[in-house]
Amino acid sequence: MTFEMKMLLRLAAPAIVVLGAGLALATIASSVSDLPKALGGAPLFDNVGDDMAIATAVVAGVVYLWQMTRYWRWTQGNGDRCFVCTCLLGRERDGRFGPYRKCLGCGKNHALGRL
Ligand SMILES: [Zn+2]
Repeated sequence: MTFEMKMLLRLAAPAIVVLGAGLALATIASSVSDLPKALGGAPLFDNVGDDMAIATAVVAGVVYLWQMTRYWRWTQGNGDRCFVCTCLLGRERDGRFGPYRKCLGCGKNHALGRL
């Protein structure tokens, strides 16, 4: 697996997590809403699972597009790059030796101010 492939997977991970968690919540909400239906009554909320799944897909799509915009900017030569593998750097974090950013490709930490 190349560093660029790792970077792409790390860029897509937030959207995948949002989609998985949202679909799990939609399934649970749909099951809970349909409990009275199993006993012969009406469901608590009509199509709550479908609505939550659609909303989750929209949010995950926005997150994915945002991350792919970062990737597109990287292909154009914009954005902070790792000096080891030239992949994108992640968000700023506070560490023991000061703020740093982790490379999305090779995983090495880069102290801010020394990029
Ligand atoms: Zn790197």
